[in-house]
Amino acid sequence: MRPLLLVLVVLIGACSGNAGSEVTTIPTQITTSTTTTTTTVPTTTTSEPPPTFPEIARALVTPTGVVVSVLEETTTGFRVTTPCGNEATVLEGTTLGTTQVVIDPGHGGQVDTGAVGANGLMEKHLNLEVSQALEADLIVRGIDVLLTRTADYASRLGVRAGLADRVNADLLISIHHNAPTPGPSPRPGTEVFIQSTSEASRRLGGLVWTRVMAALSDFDIEWTAAPDAGVLSVLSTQGSDAYGMISGPRTVSVLAEMAYISNPVEAELFATAEYVEAASDALADAVEGFLTTEATGAGYVAEPRIFNPQPGIGGSLCVDPALE
Ligand SMILES: [Zn+2]
Repeated sequence: MRPLLLVLVVLIGACSGNAGSEVTTIPTQITTSTTTTTTTVPTTTTSEPPPTFPEIARALVTPTGVVVSVLEETTTGFRVTTPCGNEATVLEGTTLGTTQVVIDPGHGGQVDTGAVGANGLMEKHLNLEVSQALEADLIVRGIDVLLTRTADYASRLGVRAGLADRVNADLLISIHHNAPTPGPSPRPGTEVFIQSTSEASRRLGGLVWTRVMAALSDFDIEWTAAPDAGVLSVLSTQGSDAYGMISGPRTVSVLAEMAYISNPVEAELFATAEYVEAASDALADAVEGFLTTEATGAGYVAEPRIFNPQPGIGGSLCVDPALE
């Protein structure tokens, strides 16, 4: 019995852990010299378009594929914020300006695997796989996109949120797969957490829930769900948005718990290419619908859930990946 209990404890802590709020401070001060455009726009009625200026580098894909926020361009390279919230200088990379959509694959690295399925499927890998499929889908649709994490490394919540703000994203969507398993349900237990004070987050959440529920319901398996599953706010006992990826960014944000990786039947489904394609297509439809229509979704839960998550991975537990 004892080993079983131990495994259960690990699963319980796994998914919700890194979704929590961080207490450590991430440098968010941005120093660039770019705000000269507003005073030069002509106010007369002329057919001439306003002058355009080359866009500054707001983020950078380093030679090793890591996406980082650019703090400042220097004569020799770029001063950037690393995934663990440190400052570093990168000599070169592919620069990014404003970006419409930021996708956040939850968890990552050796310490923060997220939840682990009975089949060995790790949430961190699954979140990244769905995120990369969503990225490819959105690019085909002509939508700019970047991922907060592009491989298996740790990244702090404040850094992920700061990246979305830095590129002036229209929306941020954080992808997760849930644990621990609640009771059996005739339908998927998809949960979408929204910013309690944002109408835009609420609309995006409804679209995500509607599309994901429709896609997952096509799979005839034994689902699990919490009684209050749907589109909802999760508040701490202090009354503020509980999850770091919801409270942290100024950007319109939602966090999608697609369904339960801790349910062995669902984890088996998640390991298939059919699931990844269906999930990413559904998310892409929701994102495109949010950006291009005024549509509202469904699944709204009236009462907020009260929950105090564990702090995210920080301090010495966060190990930066190689940037060059
Ligand atoms: Zn998670």
